[in-house]
Amino acid sequence: MSISKIGVIGAGLMGNGIAHASLLAGFEVTLVDAFVAALPKALATMTKNMERQAAKGSITEEQKAAALARLTTSTDWHALAGADIVIEAVPEKLEIKESIYKELAAALKPEAIIASNTSSISITKLAAMSGRPDKFIGMHFFNPVPMMKLVEIIRGLATSEETYQAVAALAAKMGKTAVTAHDAPGFIVNRILCPMLNEAVFALAEGVGTVQSIDAGMKLGANHPMGPLELADFVGLDTLLSIMQVLHKELGEDKYRPAPLLVKYVEAGWYGRKSGRGFYDYSQTPPVPTR
Ligand code: NAD
Repeated sequence: MSISKIGVIGAGLMGNGIAHASLLAGFEVTLVDAFVAALPKALATMTKNMERQAAKGSITEEQKAAALARLTTSTDWHALAGADIVIEAVPEKLEIKESIYKELAAALKPEAIIASNTSSISITKLAAMSGRPDKFIGMHFFNPVPMMKLVEIIRGLATSEETYQAVAALAAKMGKTAVTAHDAPGFIVNRILCPMLNEAVFALAEGVGTVQSIDAGMKLGANHPMGPLELADFVGLDTLLSIMQVLHKELGEDKYRPAPLLVKYVEAGWYGRKSGRGFYDYSQTPPVPTR
């Protein structure tokens, strides 16, 4: 099956980026959010980000205008009736995703695919809730979506070959490089990345290095573009903690135990960049370490 109309559910950080990348790849996009205020906010973010791309010369003014003209926004599920695929990017809560799949069942055409951008919930479990497990798949994008090349594609136990092929072709048309991951906690990237970020927090708490020396060490010694604590702030310390909790619970090994200092930061509401404070204080330029 070929895909021309994409529905995106959830107009937050990821949904906004997925809609942006889909529009620039030439697709018609319907962006749906339960909260009406989220939609103009997402449109403003997308417009601002496309303006930045146009100013840098990576897209033309005409491409920007044509992309935005292909966007429809709505708070009504029925706006998704014509979609060939819907990509779900609502908060990482099983109850929210489950209730949305119930609503979608009646609104979508029977052959439409549902892809979830979940970071940590089993695709097989979500697929079983969707009522169309053969047409359900994981499509895990990375933030910021318009810039990041990778998408992980995850088959559930019942995902059909036809669904997989359609989604692999879609990822390529969006200009992404796809890797196929097994339906296991954290898939590939978070399974390997998050324990490293968590380990950096253990090292900080034990006084092995300061915030600056840990970040400089990994940038210069491992050739990483960002240090692990800087990257943890970028990902969001609450998000990092919840992924570590899933890895720890599902894989049952001590090596995934969340660092107690990470738990404390999250308890304090220090979530990193998005709350203005994490391992760095972002109210100052350049940001200064908080320990
Ligand atoms: P977010 O909180 O920024 O956005 C979620 C959006 O969903 C909000 O606009 C909210 O209004 C909307 N929403 C909430 N309930 C809804 C409902 N019932 N119906 C429709 N819309 C609803 O979240 P996010 O960071 O974009 O994450 C979304 C998903 O993407 C999660 O599953 C997350 O695990 C995954 N993900 C996140 C990242 C990341 O770096 N943040 C990376 C990869 C995957």
